Amino acid sequence: MKHNEQVATGKYDTVKDTNSGFLVLTSDRLIWFERQGIVSRQVRAAVYIDLLEIGGIVKGGSLAHWVSIADSQGEHLFHFGRMSDEDFTAKLRGPIVQAAYRLRQKHDAQRIEQVKAEERAKTAVQMVTCKYCEAKVASDKERCWRCGASDFKPLNEAGDSKHLTESSSQ
Ligand SMILES: [Zn+2]
Repeated sequence: MKHNEQVATGKYDTVKDTNSGFLVLTSDRLIWFERQGIVSRQVRAAVYIDLLEIGGIVKGGSLAHWVSIADSQGEHLFHFGRMSDEDFTAKLRGPIVQAAYRLRQKHDAQRIEQVKAEERAKTAVQMVTCKYCEAKVASDKERCWRCGASDFKPLNEAGDSKHLTESSSQ
C-alpha cells in the first residue's frame, strides 16, 4: 500500500463552524482529520472524499483563500491559508487529480480483467448438442444427461459443425 500523503493543513468549513485539521491523500480517497477541541492533540477522521467521486477542485477568494472540493455529497470548503496558483496546482490539486487518475486506471484495468475472466469462463463451458440424441449438454459434463453417452460431444468445432448439419440435412 502507498503511504498516506498529507496534502495540506488548514480549516474545514461546515454550516455550523470552522474546524482545524489537516487533509490527507491516500491511494483511494481524501481524509480530513479534525482536531478534537482546542487543547487536545487528538484528531479524528471527520470527512471522507472518494477520489473517484470528485467533480472539481477549485480555489478562490482574494483575502481569505478557500479551496472547494466537490463530490457526490456536495461541496467541501477548506481554508489552507494564502496559496499561490502554482502552489495550489503543484501541492494540492495536482496530487489529488493524479491519484484519482491512477485509481481510475486501476479500476479500468480490473474491470477489463474481470470481463476477460468471464469470457474465458463462458468459452470454457458451453452448451453442445449431443451427437446421438441431440440433447443440449454442458461441455464440462462427462456424460449426456439424456442418453448417457460419454462421447456425446460433436467431433467438430463450431466452424465445422455448421457444415456437418448442412451435409446431414441433404
Ligand atoms: Zn445424448
